[in-house]
Amino acid sequence: MNDDYITMTLGKQKNIALIAHDGMKPALIQWCEDNKDILSKHFLCGTGTTARMIADRTNLPVRAYNSGPLGGDQQIGAKIVEGKIDLVIFFSDPFTAQPHDPDVKALLRIASVYDIPIANTRATADFMIKSALMDTEYEHKIINFDKQVRERAENLK
Ligand code: PGA
Repeated sequence: MNDDYITMTLGKQKNIALIAHDGMKPALIQWCEDNKDILSKHFLCGTGTTARMIADRTNLPVRAYNSGPLGGDQQIGAKIVEGKIDLVIFFSDPFTAQPHDPDVKALLRIASVYDIPIANTRATADFMIKSALMDTEYEHKIINFDKQVRERAENLK
């Protein structure tokens, strides 16, 4: 049996993280408004300012982490590691340098390690939110970290 990978399940009700750089916040708020009926069936969270603005302007409940530049992206990355975030909608601004660019890269990387769907444009988010998989459980394979740690601890000199 190949135990290099383990099967994890994204639940029917998804934990969705919402993040937008400043220049993209109006677009994400509008996207949330346009998709309110679908989003209201799931659990929402986001970086501090984004979460608060979406909650204020759409009345959707959004749990707020710290603001992105103050560690919010890293908090969301940590929740991915814990298996507590299933999807990320991240409207990033391709035209503005971000002081927390390393944190953003870290979030993208950890989402890829854990095979977590991430949408970074409106079109990607539209395709994602309209997917039939939004309403079902989804099984995916991720690296068997227990095995990897065990082997590394045994084999590293
Ligand atoms: P913010 O953070 O929602 O607190 O503005 C978003 C970001 O990562 O830039």
